[in-house]
Amino acid sequence: MLDLLIHNATLPDGRTAMSVAVQEGRIVEVTAGLMAPAHEVLDAQGMLLSPPFVDAHFHMDATLSYGLPRVNQSGTLLEGIALWGELKPLLTQDALIERALTYCDWAVAKGLLAIRTHVDVCDPRLLAVQALLEVKKRVAPYIDLQLVVFPQDGVLRGAQGPQQHMDNLVRALDLGVDVVGGIPHFERTMADGALSVKLLCELAARRGLRVDMHCDESDDPHSRHVETLAFETQRLGLQGRVTGSHLTSMHSMDNYYVSKLLPLMAEAQLQVVANPLINITLQGRHDSYPKRRGMTRVPELLAAGINVAFGHDCVMDPWYSLGSGDMLEVAHMGLHVAQMTSQAAMRQCFDAVTVNPARVLGLERYGLAGGCHADFVLLQAGNPVEAIRLRAPRLKVFRRGRLLSETAPATSALHLPGRPGLTSMMP
Ligand SMILES: [Zn+2]
Repeated sequence: MLDLLIHNATLPDGRTAMSVAVQEGRIVEVTAGLMAPAHEVLDAQGMLLSPPFVDAHFHMDATLSYGLPRVNQSGTLLEGIALWGELKPLLTQDALIERALTYCDWAVAKGLLAIRTHVDVCDPRLLAVQALLEVKKRVAPYIDLQLVVFPQDGVLRGAQGPQQHMDNLVRALDLGVDVVGGIPHFERTMADGALSVKLLCELAARRGLRVDMHCDESDDPHSRHVETLAFETQRLGLQGRVTGSHLTSMHSMDNYYVSKLLPLMAEAQLQVVANPLINITLQGRHDSYPKRRGMTRVPELLAAGINVAFGHDCVMDPWYSLGSGDMLEVAHMGLHVAQMTSQAAMRQCFDAVTVNPARVLGLERYGLAGGCHADFVLLQAGNPVEAIRLRAPRLKVFRRGRLLSETAPATSALHLPGRPGLTSMMP
């Protein structure tokens, strides 16, 4: 007897009237019109059943700290970094854990069940690292939380010399952080940036870890750290295990140079995370008009065979005062900023918040097929593009076949003469 049988679901690949059979936390079969005895039966009524959303780039140590100790008046990246510096000495472990757990509640309600978060390691107390390791343990039954050591102030830029932050970073890895991060464009010089990429990739190779660096998050067309990251990945045999996050400088680079860079990235099987909400607000701030958008070249990267995910990056923190853990809002912004409006490209934007980030994190048994974990979201939408258009309500969120969250359908009652009494904005 099955534990759960879902009928009449539409899948992201366009198949309709599909049944999904679940037993002991796994999907055992996905097929049309399956009839079998089950403890629980759910009629999806033709709505979209998707694997859960995945956020490949987040900062959970800063989330929901908006207004602490003051709000970012200018809304710029540099005031955000300064503000984070003011906030860090005031952080307490309990408050950090509480804010992160609250964010994870929001994430579950939005069907977001896997998150890669960077965690600042420049504080020698490693307070945020310890807090997020605790959060990771507590949310493990419902969220896959992956941690990245992130030297926000530059790994070679410690006030007490180039070893200071590196030592913190290594200690954080020893405590159990999963992924090696970096921020080469924020080191003192281009040469130090390149050195940081080399040292951090070598560290990851020695420890058998994945890499995810904030890389070239600037509008500088001459920044070359993506090239170095691709080179070190290939040199050290880390293909497929390294991610470049942001890569906003690629927006401003010379086209000829990018035509050389893309094949190097593809050769290294570099993965890319763009953060549309944050890139469109923080980049281009030194421009008058026209203002650059500052998001990396998503359609061109995809066309080169490179895996691209969209990340949320920030929610209500020193850098960004908005957000709610809604990866459809992220996909919606990415679609607009990259002008990905063809039918195929809009569909790719849905992949950029589901299957593509799952590959970045290296999630196993992710997807809607026999043998996968029974993790999925039922959306109030008929297809992925409609889900993005409506930032569709997550009617039901399941993990390992167990219901985690329910949201009432969004329906408005109308009081108009001669018109229908209800609308859900679905034609
Ligand atoms: Zn970031």
